[in-house]
Amino acid sequence: MWRAAVVRALRGGGAGAPRAASGAAAAQLRRRLESELEEIRGAGTWKSERVIASRQGPHLRLAGGGAGIINFCANNYLGLSSHPEVIRAAVEALEKFGAGLSSVRFICGTQSIHKDLEEKIARFHQREDAILYASCFDANAGIFEALLTPEDAVLSDELNHASIIDGIRLCKANKYRYKHMDMQDLETKLKEAQKHRLRLVATDGAFSMDGDIAPLREICQLAQKYDALVFIDECHATGFLGPNGRGTDELLGVMDKVTIINSTLGKALGGAAGGYTTGPKPLIDLLRQRSRPYLFSNSLPPAVVGCASKALDLLMESNAIAQSMAAKTQRFRSKMTAAGFTISGKDHPICPVMLGDARLASVMAEDMLNRGIYVIGFSYPVVPKGKARIRVQISAVHSDEDIDRCVEAFTEVGRKHGALP
Ligand code: PLP
Repeated sequence: MWRAAVVRALRGGGAGAPRAASGAAAAQLRRRLESELEEIRGAGTWKSERVIASRQGPHLRLAGGGAGIINFCANNYLGLSSHPEVIRAAVEALEKFGAGLSSVRFICGTQSIHKDLEEKIARFHQREDAILYASCFDANAGIFEALLTPEDAVLSDELNHASIIDGIRLCKANKYRYKHMDMQDLETKLKEAQKHRLRLVATDGAFSMDGDIAPLREICQLAQKYDALVFIDECHATGFLGPNGRGTDELLGVMDKVTIINSTLGKALGGAAGGYTTGPKPLIDLLRQRSRPYLFSNSLPPAVVGCASKALDLLMESNAIAQSMAAKTQRFRSKMTAAGFTISGKDHPICPVMLGDARLASVMAEDMLNRGIYVIGFSYPVVPKGKARIRVQISAVHSDEDIDRCVEAFTEVGRKHGALP
């Protein structure tokens, strides 16, 4: 044994070195994977990851240099990811309740802080109860299968988030996909779906690629007319849309018409991780019995629970942070429009700067980083062909000066690359 270890060490294959699996099947798999990776590179859709060497925040240091970068691409809408009180709450929870539960909730993974956070989430959204998950992806993966049977129907916006699409795939209900925010099409599909026992309309509250907000008033009216329930995914709304940051349902005055809300703790609410469903108590009780990502996955770690709980406290104490984010968003959108750019969506901190051409979006994003502004270009297949864009995300903790510097950089880079006259 030791001889083999010495030989491996001499060949550069020491104890910690990766071992390649041997055999024809492993070799065949490796060839297949390499060719698939090559295809992704060839298609120009390779996603590389920049390494951040500082905390998440409006100003970053990137690994290998790059200090003082102004960050416009996190979902840190309220700037709570590095808020001192949020960090302190995480440390306190870590010290008092430990690193983790080593258990799912129903075996021995529920602490008082999990119950408190669920109660707080329900109170924040003015719903009867809430259930925590490791992520909103899990909340979306669990709900449809637990709730809907082959007798039921689900009607989903065609641009819903991947996790809603996957959650719907897992359920046995009859599936209808309506055109993006198209109320005529939704009505047609609702008429077709009358034959089923129960109808659930599922939509993102705010869509992350376009910064557009679902027409919830109209959706709720149709739901009432055709006896359907409404589900919204509020990942890009919770904490900041609406006068008190309750979300899209508060913004559009339909808090009493939306039955189920799924959202994340990994964006505006401290940015650590975690997700939840909030809604009627019997639904939450059923999810605790039937929802597979809840039943078969570890409890949220105490530090993560501490972050989210403090974030909610801050939001319930005052709506000042949510309001300041709205003012910053307005500043960016109006200055960019005045500079000659087209910004998709309306009144949302996701501000897609529409450029059309994929290469232009990628070259401009790179050049923005040269000027200390971190933004990301999106092109096909993430967005439709010919609709490439740079997505800018505003945070409450951006200063007016940060926003003005971003607009100036866009203007310079836009002129240089022909996006502006
Ligand atoms: N739903 C939407 C609309 C999202 O944008 C995301 C995250 O990108 C998710 C669900 C998943 O959230 P989480 O990161 O908590 O899994």
